[in-house]
Amino acid sequence: MNIKSNYQYLLSDLTKLRGVGYKTTNLLKKKGINTIFDILWKLPKSYTDRSKSSKIKDLKINENQTITIIPHKYLFPRIRNLPNRVFCKDETGEIECVFFNSYEGYIKKILPIGKEITLSGKIKYFRNRYQLTNPKYISENASLIKQKHNTYSLTEGISEKVYNKIISQILNLLPTFNEWHSKEIMKKFSNISWNNSIKELHKPENIGKFRENFYQRLAFDEIFSTFLVNSEIRKKIKKIKKIKKKINIESQNKIISNLDFTLTNDQKKTLKEINNDLCSSNKMFRLLQGDVGSGKTIVSLLASYNTIMSGFQVALMAPTEILARQHYSLAKKIFPSDIKIELISGKSHHKDKKEILKKLVEHKIDLIFGTHAIFQKKVEYNKLGLIIIDEQHKFGVNQRKKLSDKGGKDCDVLLMTATPIPRTLTMSIYGDMDISVISEKPKTRKPIKTYSKLENKIDEVIRFIKKEMDLENQIFWVCPLIDESKKIDHESAVKKFEYLKKIFPNKVSLLHGKTTLDEKEKILDNFLKKKFSILVSTTIIEVGIDFPNANVIVIENANKFGLSQLHQLRGRVGRGYKDSTCILMFKSNLSENAKKRINILKNSNDGFKISEEDMKLRGFGDILGFKQSGIKNFKLADPVHNHDLFILAEKEIKRIEASNQDIRKFKPLIKLYDRADIINDIA
Ligand code: ADP
Ligand code: MG
Repeated sequence: MNIKSNYQYLLSDLTKLRGVGYKTTNLLKKKGINTIFDILWKLPKSYTDRSKSSKIKDLKINENQTITIIPHKYLFPRIRNLPNRVFCKDETGEIECVFFNSYEGYIKKILPIGKEITLSGKIKYFRNRYQLTNPKYISENASLIKQKHNTYSLTEGISEKVYNKIISQILNLLPTFNEWHSKEIMKKFSNISWNNSIKELHKPENIGKFRENFYQRLAFDEIFSTFLVNSEIRKKIKKIKKIKKKINIESQNKIISNLDFTLTNDQKKTLKEINNDLCSSNKMFRLLQGDVGSGKTIVSLLASYNTIMSGFQVALMAPTEILARQHYSLAKKIFPSDIKIELISGKSHHKDKKEILKKLVEHKIDLIFGTHAIFQKKVEYNKLGLIIIDEQHKFGVNQRKKLSDKGGKDCDVLLMTATPIPRTLTMSIYGDMDISVISEKPKTRKPIKTYSKLENKIDEVIRFIKKEMDLENQIFWVCPLIDESKKIDHESAVKKFEYLKKIFPNKVSLLHGKTTLDEKEKILDNFLKKKFSILVSTTIIEVGIDFPNANVIVIENANKFGLSQLHQLRGRVGRGYKDSTCILMFKSNLSENAKKRINILKNSNDGFKISEEDMKLRGFGDILGFKQSGIKNFKLADPVHNHDLFILAEKEIKRIEASNQDIRKFKPLIKLYDRADIINDIA
């Protein structure tokens, strides 16, 4: 096998490194470096210039210097913890080399008496003598040392010399790939090849030059490969041929005209997009993205209705039972009674559940609501035509793909999410799906007034909520966990509950990590029924549930949350027709940066804009809570700084899709950059 033309070399494990021992590879593995390719991504942090040498009398203390000396005497104390020493000289003076944890034989080999040797390292002055402890470089060949040597951040326990040797070994063995990009793309990166880019980035003189073409080229490849994989998944799903649904617009519009509101333009537009997919002979795999309260539910129910009218069954999965029930009640209210609607609940009796399962197989149920239970193995459908998944933004590409396989070939898939993400990330996170966006909120929605308050002004907050309670309004009071890793850490919520209970007896309830699921449902249900006024909770109150009567949310320790999270929390209120308020509480005065962030929130009620601004201020990280979804953390590319590259990659993918181009030439790229589990299905 010609190692040079094969990407396998880069994907192979560290045993393929020559002259590198078990100890070193183990240290690398501990740092998460498992393949040769992984090593290449750790770019040098800085370099040490060892090109200039000096005579002993001119040495500068505490600096890295290179000297050429002649060893003339050894001192091997042979007592544990005492170092071995080698006395050396040049024509101008004496220097002592000190070696801890070393073998005599090794020292005699590298520093033979009477031979001219070049050394490099940090010079110290101790007991009237120059000293060099564990020199970094030792060689008979001065030119090997007199260079700029890179410093990598991973060299703890691995000497700089060994690490640099590993890097140059890999760079020498780099496979040469046929260029996978189009001429137009290559022009943008000054025709710099993948190989050259990698090599350039490991050169000392290029350290930190993140705007240069070679850096951009590699960052682009990283973004492009992610998009390409997502695009391939989408194409593959859409290739599946299904029985077309037939839509009766008249009967759909009858339902719409009976609603107690009119649809927004975006609701109409997205419904049309979904309907088109339902009527097409290709399987639908679509995401309905819209900020909290933008009215996604009704759109999904209308799509369900159309599917049912075409003779199919529909399953709608919600993240919680109470939300499933809310959707169920809405469907019951707006659909004609001849449509058979059911809810599978954890609380249903065993007998009832069995009955529902039986009816599903016999197609005596048209529309079923529930949590993940509705997709368990034992749940069988007769003619499932549409799966709707609400508020599951944490589903990663893999989970989504499994879901789409599950429904069978005639089953369309619609996902809904209220988690807005910056525009640049859409293709990375949702690129495997077609996307419909609702950006316009119902006109009846009033903006939520947002204030910030220091915690010692709690009396003002109490006065405010008292007034709201007099108007029979309800309040959410959120106390974040002090330590996310300890889910039982709900002290502050309990304390606040006790405190509020004294002021408002019989009007306060508490939800925290230890509340059982049953209790939780009961509490939320009682809140919905206005049996109490203030709900104190630690965790995020269930996404998506409509509490039309709650119009105030107090968020303590607000700096614990990211802006997008705060926006989502705030979206729990303002769903009814009343004026709503969000009060962000802080323990101490805000820093300038924190003030900036809070102002974004105060001045905008647009989740997309907020997430965009938040990312600009904080970087990508895990601001959106996408970590567990398996969304890739880019190694080089940065969604903020490389915004243009994301746009360029998206354009190029669209071009490739439109021209139906063979993507086999991208195979090495995909293999190198992407998750193998997904790739196996494609390439
Ligand atoms: P989300 O997009 O967050 O899931 P929902 O579908 O739960 O939003 O809708 C939030 C609230 O807005 C519901 O009470 C719903 O009845 C109402 N709503 C939906 N569409 C409209 C509209 N076009 N005009 C007025 N209210 C609407
Ligand atoms: Mg919703």
